[in-house]
Amino acid sequence: MPVSCAAVGCTNRFIKGSEIRFYRFPVSKPQLASQWVQSLGRKGFIPTPNSCLCSEHFEQDCFRDYNGRQFLREDAVPTIFTASQSPGPDTLKIELRKNRGAVAPKDASKVQASQLSTVSEKEKAKERERAKLGS
Ligand SMILES: [Zn+2]
Repeated sequence: MPVSCAAVGCTNRFIKGSEIRFYRFPVSKPQLASQWVQSLGRKGFIPTPNSCLCSEHFEQDCFRDYNGRQFLREDAVPTIFTASQSPGPDTLKIELRKNRGAVAPKDASKVQASQLSTVSEKEKAKERERAKLGS
């Protein structure tokens, strides 16, 4: 069996020389293993000693540098799962509302711009008058 990632929607497989590393479920530490499963979000998933997650699901601070190589910390829990990590439509709506509120000052500047154009229209009219007088 080739080593592949147990995360939903993740198609990473172990490739020799690849930057993606694979970590086995900590089945010897049931408490930690259950945290991994919870974070994974796969209902009824029972990790076996061959179940792996790839390094893309761990925050950078889950790793420890040792002699130039990165090791997963013993208590690290994977947290990055794009399939289950949707912010939800409600959050997006709130963002849009915030943006709408910020539009108001722009309208004020538009008003000023139209006032400026009125002034320039007057200037043009004056110039037309001058041109008439000159001719
Ligand atoms: Zn993965």
